[in-house]
Amino acid sequence: LSSSNPSGDRTAFAARVLDPIRAIVGDRGIITDPGEMRPYMESWRDNWVGRSPLVVQPGSTEELAAVVRVCAETRTPIVPQGGNTGLTGAGQPHEDGSEVVISTSRLNRIREIDIDNDTVTVEAGCILANIQNAARDIGRLFPLSLGAEGTCQIGGNIATNAGGVQVLRYGNMRNLVAGLEVVLADGRIWNGLRGLRKDNAGYDMKQIFIGSEGTLGIVTAAVLKLSPLPRATATALVAVSSPSDAVDLLNRAKGMAGDRIVTFELIQRLCIDIARKHVPDVPDPLRDLYPWYVLVELADQEAGGHLAELLEGILEAGLEAGEMLDGVVAASKAQADSLWRIREGIPEGQKREGVSYKHDVSVPISKVARFLDRTNAALEREFPGIRPFSFGHLGDGNIHYNPIQADGGDTAQWRARLGAVNAIVHDIVVDLGGSISAEHGIGRLRIDELPRYKSAVEMDMMAMLKAAFDPHNIMNPGKILRLPRASAGA
Ligand SMILES: Cc1cc2nc3c(=O)[nH]c(=O)nc-3n(C[C@H](O)[C@H](O)[C@H](O)COP(=O)(O)OP(=O)(O)OC[C@H]3O[C@@H](n4cnc5c(N)ncnc54)[C@H](O)[C@@H]3O)c2cc1C
Repeated sequence: LSSSNPSGDRTAFAARVLDPIRAIVGDRGIITDPGEMRPYMESWRDNWVGRSPLVVQPGSTEELAAVVRVCAETRTPIVPQGGNTGLTGAGQPHEDGSEVVISTSRLNRIREIDIDNDTVTVEAGCILANIQNAARDIGRLFPLSLGAEGTCQIGGNIATNAGGVQVLRYGNMRNLVAGLEVVLADGRIWNGLRGLRKDNAGYDMKQIFIGSEGTLGIVTAAVLKLSPLPRATATALVAVSSPSDAVDLLNRAKGMAGDRIVTFELIQRLCIDIARKHVPDVPDPLRDLYPWYVLVELADQEAGGHLAELLEGILEAGLEAGEMLDGVVAASKAQADSLWRIREGIPEGQKREGVSYKHDVSVPISKVARFLDRTNAALEREFPGIRPFSFGHLGDGNIHYNPIQADGGDTAQWRARLGAVNAIVHDIVVDLGGSISAEHGIGRLRIDELPRYKSAVEMDMMAMLKAAFDPHNIMNPGKILRLPRASAGA
């Protein structure tokens, strides 16, 4: 809807797309008012603001499939959207106003809980925290846990293969899905809602859609795997002198606690300072200041105080071996929550601090320290005064490496350096055998960098997959891969 004749375009769009979709979902399932559409156009970090003629909220899988059929017939591009907390611009429409947003917000039923099978079948629009609570109500754990859990939806979690703070123990979204229901780009419904742990009858189709960022189809429901609900947890904040010592401590903890370690988060001192500066109630529980910290949490089926004793034992041994400098074990649930506020306050604190260059990278755990040393030194050489700012899921080799502009630097000048900073960081990541996106995906943010870091063979395999599932490129075009856009009415 961006030609030289906008009113003519609008009439044609209404006749071909809007009216048929309204006939499917009714007025209740349609938003066209620009003010009401605004939250669907903007990203959490305000760095992407798109335009669209229409947000559709189907009330069932069948409605959603019928809407996709209209879009497929008219070659109207679609942007699937869940809770809109994604961080790569993949969930917003482009600025040209040609794409229809399909929101899964009304697909929010828990369809079935199968206690004996340890699975729950949910619709894509269920908010993650609601699924966690439903599992807890029946004495089970749904272990995906991340800062946006009160807003993000399970369909979005699946489409981004979300990770979070318990991957070390339970794996990422890919490990937590037993089956999927998906609406394909031609509007057909694939019912793969099988709650199976073992299924080798052909290709594992659900894995194709997990992490595909809405570019291959729209997830409408999922069978999720549940775990036993831990009866005890123990949480500590530990000070270490370097990431390398933190890795030694992690190895010690693995040896002593096995898979009872659920969280092992590395935090640089500056992250705590900035969280405390901008976010209320972020504590600073250790008396002295240290360069690095680790938030560690253990969980176990067995109730009682043994877990705190085990954690204290790990810390004592770590202290004796010189791997850590200081630490505090939470004595109550309230204290544990307070330690978590440090970790959870970091993204919000950084959002408010000034220009930062976000990199959600992974390297083998054994190379995290080398990655940080090399990258900090390379950036300081090129951009004197740049402030390293690193935190993340050390237990998964996943660091959020988000250096901030030098204190008092000119913001416009720093913004202009983004590409150069990205190249330095990502070249080192890939040289160390890592990935330029550990959790958040490619979306629009990394679309132009991907071909630099993937082989031609891998880019070609991805393009072949996309062409097979979405030959007219209507499913979230211009995300992950840059391919010719669908032309309306073709
Ligand atoms: C404070 C904060 C903390 C975060 N922490 C983490 C973290 O620890 N780990 C992590 O992995 N991420 C994290 N994220 C990123 C984000 O929360 C996740 O990517 C989340 O999984 C996105 O879910 P959503 O419902 O908001 O998806 P959206 O933002 O709506 O969409 C994300 C992508 O999925 C596609 N999509 C959405 N729903 C569907 C569907 N039903 N079918 C097909 N495609 C769909 C969209 O088109 C888009 O490409 C964080 C974000 C914030 C704001």
